[in-house]
Amino acid sequence: MRKKIVLIPAGFIAVILVAIIAFLLVKASQVNAGREETNALLDRTVFPKLANIGSINTLSVLPIIDFLAENEDLRTEPGVSYLVRADDTTILMDVGYNAGEEHPSPLLQNMKALNVKLSDIDMIFISHLHVDHLGGMREMKKGEFSLSRGPVKLGEIPVYAPSPLRPSEWNSGPKVRVLSEPTVIAPGIVSTGPIPRFLFLVGKTDEQVLALNLKGKGIVLVIGCGHPTVERIIQRAKMLFDQPIYAVIGGLHFPVKGGRGNLGPINVQYIVGADRAPWRGLDEADVDHAIEAIRKERISILSLSPHDSSDWSLERFHRAFQNEWVDLKVGKELLL
Ligand SMILES: [Zn+2]
Ligand SMILES: [Zn+2]
Repeated sequence: MRKKIVLIPAGFIAVILVAIIAFLLVKASQVNAGREETNALLDRTVFPKLANIGSINTLSVLPIIDFLAENEDLRTEPGVSYLVRADDTTILMDVGYNAGEEHPSPLLQNMKALNVKLSDIDMIFISHLHVDHLGGMREMKKGEFSLSRGPVKLGEIPVYAPSPLRPSEWNSGPKVRVLSEPTVIAPGIVSTGPIPRFLFLVGKTDEQVLALNLKGKGIVLVIGCGHPTVERIIQRAKMLFDQPIYAVIGGLHFPVKGGRGNLGPINVQYIVGADRAPWRGLDEADVDHAIEAIRKERISILSLSPHDSSDWSLERFHRAFQNEWVDLKVGKELLL
């Protein structure tokens, strides 16, 4: 049988290419303007030191969802969900990706394998409203979050979010409170408040960081994607706290020389996760700048998420912080 060859007119291809280039140039000019505006806003933003933040005596962070796992029985995803146990308060920070729209979700499967019960969770802390932290693409589009794509029994526990958010039909119990500024949630448990950044293609993104005041040691920062940049996160922490920064845990968003969950050859995290057009994207100098910013704080523990940083970037941080480095893997509990 003869194959039918469909010829696409050269003129049509040229029109499509011009349209794509025009779109990217418009987006590039928007991100340039947005970056300047957001940086000016952050330079003007001043919060007083938080009074009476209280402290906690014991702290652990158990990654339940991330890109690497302690053993192959645990599910992995380019997403985040961490169980933070601060004295007798248990916080679920972010609810994973669930890219396959599964029920039970990888989050629920790993919770079961790690002997974590839904009834253990006292509160949910959502770092920012991205697909890999809200439990799915549908959730992100609808401004919702889901622990799974089927019924999940959660009580009327509080959810702390940096922007308006609703629980999905699958987990309708929790009550969302939007935090628009730095807030003491419970003794020793603090939200830095939203730190904005204007990202290419997606626009202004508010991200909050979970800060815990560990008695005798200092502030532990647990970060979702790290879009605001670690430099801005440290700046906010120093504005709010007298205590030194003791540990930095979580995502810093460095998909440099590689990414996670690529769409074919396209490194999606590289394109959408920074406040620059991709042809001026994140590079080695950005990683080294972040390393210097962290080094100045003389932290004791650095444990970075592989969900939004490449092996190359993680290796560079690891080499710079040989004594402070702890691998971040699903199932590996970090005792602080
Ligand atoms: Zn992320
Ligand atoms: Zn993100």
